[in-house]
Amino acid sequence: MPELPEITVIAGQMNETIKKKRIADADIKQPKNLNMSVKDFLRKIKGKTVKDVSSKGKWLFLALDSSYDLLINLGMGAEILYFEPGQKLQENAQFRLDFSDKTGLTIHFWWFGYIHLVSKKEKSKHKLTGKLGMPPTDEKFTLDYFRKLLAGKKTGVKSFLLDQKNVAGIGNVYIQDILFKAKLHPSRKISTLSEKETTSLHKAIREVLNHSIGLGGAAFELDFYGHKGRFTSNNFLVGYKPGKPCPECGTIIEKIRTGSTASYVCSHCQQE
Ligand SMILES: [Zn+2]
Repeated sequence: MPELPEITVIAGQMNETIKKKRIADADIKQPKNLNMSVKDFLRKIKGKTVKDVSSKGKWLFLALDSSYDLLINLGMGAEILYFEPGQKLQENAQFRLDFSDKTGLTIHFWWFGYIHLVSKKEKSKHKLTGKLGMPPTDEKFTLDYFRKLLAGKKTGVKSFLLDQKNVAGIGNVYIQDILFKAKLHPSRKISTLSEKETTSLHKAIREVLNHSIGLGGAAFELDFYGHKGRFTSNNFLVGYKPGKPCPECGTIIEKIRTGSTASYVCSHCQQE
């Protein structure tokens, strides 16, 4: 499932490649991905130009030269791929966007995802993105901001960070090493964090995500050009490494259940 690093990489590549391109047509095989009828969607999108592509957490935002923006979420996983004239298109794509210069993009959702056209004016009211928290790679995501965000919260640290309303973009992949680096057990309650632990956590979040962005995202995901990221299983510290020794102390890494998700922890470095 793509998380903040993969989506950041894709947004940057889309910005380089499809900015200023005019949308000629769209092919929609799975109308339930849209937030309106296919007819309305086509009427609103044809002839519009992509002004800018950005991301927020796990969402891609395509600003159009119209009163609408195109918001895309790849859900549990998807390939969103650029194509040039004559290039073989990915099979089973449920969505295709054609530009006037015959290039375009296709999306193949593994399970489900969203392709929403949202009025610029109503964007803050959009059900799925209007309440997203700040992405931790945002320059405004300072230690001071983070402290205020955590103040008075009583939930477990892992479930808090995975809730997209609190922080946008962290999922069950990168959270593992974030908590390990901060030496926090996933079940630790936010109210029990010391000043020092909060500072370590803030630092770990940014380090882990930026490290993966620098490597082009996870190796099990494809970027906009169809290339795999370079963040491989070797780059994980404890994530997805059950049975391997902890890189800090050598204790065997365990896979445990924490609420509805699996966690990978070193029981020595990350005590409850
Ligand atoms: Zn350890």
